[in-house]
Amino acid sequence: MTELWVALNDIPAEGREFSFADQAVWQDRWKEFDLALHPGAEDLCAKAAIMMQGENAVLVRGTLSGSVKLACDRCATLFEFEVNTQFDSYEELNDEQKDQEAEAPRLRKRKDGTLELDMGALLWEELVLVLPVKPLCDEVCKGLCPGCGRDLNTEECTCDQDDSDPRLAVFRNLKIK
Ligand SMILES: [Zn+2]
Ligand SMILES: [Zn+2]
Repeated sequence: MTELWVALNDIPAEGREFSFADQAVWQDRWKEFDLALHPGAEDLCAKAAIMMQGENAVLVRGTLSGSVKLACDRCATLFEFEVNTQFDSYEELNDEQKDQEAEAPRLRKRKDGTLELDMGALLWEELVLVLPVKPLCDEVCKGLCPGCGRDLNTEECTCDQDDSDPRLAVFRNLKIK
């Protein structure tokens, strides 16, 4: 997994702009988690301003744009999904003693006292947040026929005409006393 730790020792009071365009930040993670995500036509790109909030906290304000390809939940076709989001993320240095069970900290302090921020984890989360839970190539996607597996968006199927028609099942279950 591509780590992307940004040292925060010389961020000026008004903050500093960074831009991130290394696709590995996102792609390494979706490969590692084995997600049905693929590179889109437009590379992902993040721009973020990092502003210190006192000694041990930081505010990251930015945008993430580009595109990815997702697999449709109904027909499995890959389709282009535009990413265009703004985010605000507040990160605080955690007290390590009381933070045993929490997720991996995004902010950590090196032995020499330099604070650093895991932008890789943060940028990954911002992408995940905009992905649909049920990706659809189209709101009206008809999906695959459960009977014959044909893509009903592009093909006709004849399943409806045989005995498996659910509308006829009503009659099959009728009991004649
Ligand atoms: Zn579809
Ligand atoms: Zn069918």
